[in-house]
Amino acid sequence: MDNNTNNQPQDNENKNKMPKNQILIILLAAFVTMFVAGMMRSYMADKSLKEIGYDQFVQQVEAGEIEAVTVKNTQINIQYKEDSDQFNPAFQYYTVPLERDYKLADRLLDKGVEIKRERQDTGAMLESILGLVLPFVFIVIFMNFMMKRMGGVGKSNAKVYMQKETGVTFADVAGQDEAKESLVELVDFLHHPGKYTHIGAKLPKGALLVGPPGTGKTLLAKAVAGEAQVPFYFLSGSDFMELYVGVGASRVRSLFKQAQQTAPCIIFIDEIDSIGRSRGGYGGSDTEQQQTLNQMLSEMDGMDSSKGLLILAATNRPEVLDPALLRPGRFDRRIIVDKPDLKGRVDILKVHGKNVSMDDTVDFEAIALATSGAVGSDLANMINEAAILAVKNGRNAVCQKDLFEAVEVVLVGKEKKDRVLSAEERRIVSYHEVGHALVSALQKDAEPVQKITIVPRTMGALGYVMHVPEEEKYLNSKKELYAMLVGCLAGRAAEELVFDTVTTGAANDIQQATRIARAMVTQYGMSDKFGLMGLATQEDQYLTGRMVMNCGDATAAGVDDEVMRILKETYNEAKRLLGENREVMDQIAEFLIEKETITGKEFMEIFRRCKGIPEPEKELTPAEKLEAETCAEQATLESGETKAPEAPQSKPVNEQNQ
Ligand code: ADP
Ligand code: ZN
Repeated sequence: MDNNTNNQPQDNENKNKMPKNQILIILLAAFVTMFVAGMMRSYMADKSLKEIGYDQFVQQVEAGEIEAVTVKNTQINIQYKEDSDQFNPAFQYYTVPLERDYKLADRLLDKGVEIKRERQDTGAMLESILGLVLPFVFIVIFMNFMMKRMGGVGKSNAKVYMQKETGVTFADVAGQDEAKESLVELVDFLHHPGKYTHIGAKLPKGALLVGPPGTGKTLLAKAVAGEAQVPFYFLSGSDFMELYVGVGASRVRSLFKQAQQTAPCIIFIDEIDSIGRSRGGYGGSDTEQQQTLNQMLSEMDGMDSSKGLLILAATNRPEVLDPALLRPGRFDRRIIVDKPDLKGRVDILKVHGKNVSMDDTVDFEAIALATSGAVGSDLANMINEAAILAVKNGRNAVCQKDLFEAVEVVLVGKEKKDRVLSAEERRIVSYHEVGHALVSALQKDAEPVQKITIVPRTMGALGYVMHVPEEEKYLNSKKELYAMLVGCLAGRAAEELVFDTVTTGAANDIQQATRIARAMVTQYGMSDKFGLMGLATQEDQYLTGRMVMNCGDATAAGVDDEVMRILKETYNEAKRLLGENREVMDQIAEFLIEKETITGKEFMEIFRRCKGIPEPEKELTPAEKLEAETCAEQATLESGETKAPEAPQSKPVNEQNQ
């Protein structure tokens, strides 16, 4: 099916009809221009030209006072002889219908008066036209501008993109099965509104798509329009808002009016939180936002949904939305579009890999396993990067290695070959990273190491450790969180142990560790001091996961003490572990300094050799199995080395060691 032809988004706003205001402005400008021109003409006529009677003129001709005349349509301009009494540097004229005086020409010729033909002086004509048109145009533009500045009065000029057909179907949206299920119902409403109204069911007016950025909310909305084969209006919440109060409200009005004319259709409002913020609280003094929201509410109430008008809105901050928006009859359906799980990620990779040629080595399962925490847009990006890499390397199909490299590029940026670390910095970074990895290997609860590298990356990391999670985890035990903290702080511990100094490279680790420790105390009831008391609530689940303390000041101070204690304890544990395994750390670090990259296999070889552990024969860990399946030397991948379970990140957190 070729939908692309009518797929062009169009600015639908100004083309329907000429707004009344425009006509008014043009009329007004024309009037002003004419008035001004009239004034000028009479002014000039008074000053420079004098009228005389025809008989007087004939007398003057007879008396030979006239040198030349210029005959125009309705008048004759006279040029007197220099010696005549009448002489005046300026012309004089009088008006008379020319055909009355048949002898005029003879008379003039008799007296030797020169007759000049009135030439069409294009320059003068241009001048007079410009003199009229320019002010007119200027006035129109100026008034339009003023109207817009004043807002409200000017017609809505919010960018409304209307697609007659989106060409997207549910098949293009991978994973998100629950969301799709709820939306299928809405498609049916749009298809057969009569079926529902017939038995007296009220049609839903709106649904709210909630989830982190890049999970496919816009895509889903487009798919609903595509499936229902109805037009799709797209605009972002912030498009409504302008500095001037009332603009947003008028834009909402015109949007609904326009949509109602093309119903059945779908209006999709992205980032609805920018207009739908709760009135009062969250800086509620913003009158423009309030008016816009009120207008939206009243439009939704007045909307006749039996025509098949459906409003979808997307947000990643549902908690700030005004309750009135979520009331039954408005956005009463909430559809969660969360980060994809393992299967979802495989499906998304498949959807986006459909049109990319891949060879037999490609295994989406492995990629999906390595990208826990990645959202749809990340994965789409990875497939594209892989294709570009393949082309760059002169191959005509994408292989697994390209994909893994692309994952790295998307997660930590490209290799930054031109950044040269000094020998001392390389040593520090190596020990730091080996510290992380070694501690993970030593603690059997932590995930196995897959790769360590000290090649700087464009996204700021000087080096990083990659882990492959054994399976997706939805729960973390207290013990696991402790292990995570120890691993997190091990980089700094290694620096201190080996160089007896500390660097700025651990800033990210510290931030991460603090967040985990704080969550343990305030949210998970994992500290002995506070027990099960919930001390903080999450503010925006789908974005930063910021926490807000909800306890007294004294308790908050106590929480800080407790967090500090946990961090100190785990840091000491990291130092202890590394101190006891100093020799292993030295050997691995040497290898890394020399080779820049060490794979999980090489790492474990050195680790086992030093510790005298025999190589395992049959029992492979899932991570090693994974590695065995993909080619041996390829860059194997991880998800966030220390993924904080309480704060889903849009991207897996990696070591950022600047
Ligand atoms: P959101 O609106 O949630 O921020 P988008 O819908 O704009 O995210 O998604 C951005 C891009 O990511 C899409 O155009 C699509 O290519 C890809 N994408 C995201 N989620 C999915 C998914 N579930 N299936 C297929 N592609 C997806
Ligand atoms: Zn670190």
